[in-house]
Amino acid sequence: RVVVGTKIDEGHNNFVRAYNMLTGIRFCVSRIHAKMERDVNDADFKHAQKYSFDITGSELTPSAKYDFKFKDYAPWVFRRIRAAFSIDPSDYLVSLTAKYILSELGSPGKSGSFFYFSRDYKYIIKTIHHAEHKFLRLILKDYYDHVKANPDTLLSQFYGLHRVKLPYGKKVHFVVMNNLFPPHRDIHRTFDLKGSTIGRDFREEDLEKNPRATLKDLNWLRRNLHLEFGPTKKEAFVAQMQRDVALLQRLKIMDYSLLVGIHDLERGNEENLRDKTLQVFQPGSKKPEEPQMGQLARTPSKLESAKRARELRESVKKERPVPLAQTLDKMPGEAHRKGFYFYQDDGGFQATHEDDMPGEEVYYLGIIDCLTRYSLVKKLEHLWKGMGGHESQISPIPPERYGDRFIKFICGITMSRERAENERNQRMSQ
Ligand code: ATP
Ligand code: CA
Ligand code: CA
Repeated sequence: RVVVGTKIDEGHNNFVRAYNMLTGIRFCVSRIHAKMERDVNDADFKHAQKYSFDITGSELTPSAKYDFKFKDYAPWVFRRIRAAFSIDPSDYLVSLTAKYILSELGSPGKSGSFFYFSRDYKYIIKTIHHAEHKFLRLILKDYYDHVKANPDTLLSQFYGLHRVKLPYGKKVHFVVMNNLFPPHRDIHRTFDLKGSTIGRDFREEDLEKNPRATLKDLNWLRRNLHLEFGPTKKEAFVAQMQRDVALLQRLKIMDYSLLVGIHDLERGNEENLRDKTLQVFQPGSKKPEEPQMGQLARTPSKLESAKRARELRESVKKERPVPLAQTLDKMPGEAHRKGFYFYQDDGGFQATHEDDMPGEEVYYLGIIDCLTRYSLVKKLEHLWKGMGGHESQISPIPPERYGDRFIKFICGITMSRERAENERNQRMSQ
């Protein structure tokens, strides 16, 4: 969230890279949406298009602020995937506008990937390793088919796969995906759950220093928490998770986790209201833009928003790229996920009681980090052992078992408050 993000301005090391990423995305997305709708074919999955941007511009590409190379992978396929997730093309472009540069989360995981938020917090750009990139291309057809058949999938929603390269720089691959967490609501606790206990503990002592840290399986169990869904929501949630995990097992993927953000409705948004403002910065200007996010921020009038949205939509239709300078202030909480089961409650999935009546929490959840193939983990494991590490310190189990263990764990912690209480009483009386 905001607090963790560092705004990227022109002095920032990664400013140029982030700026180029956005410039490239906007160009490619405008370009593909300018084409007439048609069916995707097998070649579309393999297709990739290279572009060269420079200050003067060329017949194909407009002039850009910096010289860089950009590669767009499977644009037709991703256009379809975005449509399957009801992402409006002009909204997408607006969110990823380069005028307001992103905020950077740095590299929270061990993998070394960088994370960037779009300025309105809807999208995340994650740099990925070459192996992950190759793997995503390899499984793209399976992923696409799965998304088509399961619009309510809990898996990360990949909206684009691209590569950027600065002159003399190295090639950096990245994906654009959904931010599971909302811009307009405090997330009071975050968990990253794998269903394993080995090394799955965030030091509780460190929580004071870092109250928004992502906690893990053992922290969850220690707190005796549950994903409090009554029978109806639980059934839907478990069924979708099983379908998603079945795909991951078939593709020999592992090391993924269920990311869970909990918003406590009783605590609401009172805390850290000031922190709610997203750090946005308009390069070239001296002072940061007014905050655009949260109910607190200045919001444009509905009319103003509608007018600018229309203009953008028109410009997409007219087959010309949306000028970079043109932006649209979005209303907070305006969910592009409307109609999606697990995001039905204002972008989240609200707890329910045993009688299916609404509960006290809203969960924001999804299965993330699902581009790690078993063979790669095996390789890393060997490397680790070669460096003197011990096998018991890691837990690379085969994808079948990884998935089964994952499902078992998540099912086991999914129950309404009443049910959890019942089970506790039963245990006590035994
Ligand atoms: P590692 O491989 O070491 O686990 P990674 O670099 O592959 O790390 P992820 O596991 O994908 O990173 O994500 C790291 C953290 O970033 C997550 O625990 C979560 O806090 C945040 N994050 C990742 N994806 C999302 C998302 N789609 N929405 C919101 N937050 C996310
Ligand atoms: Ca991870
Ligand atoms: Ca990873």
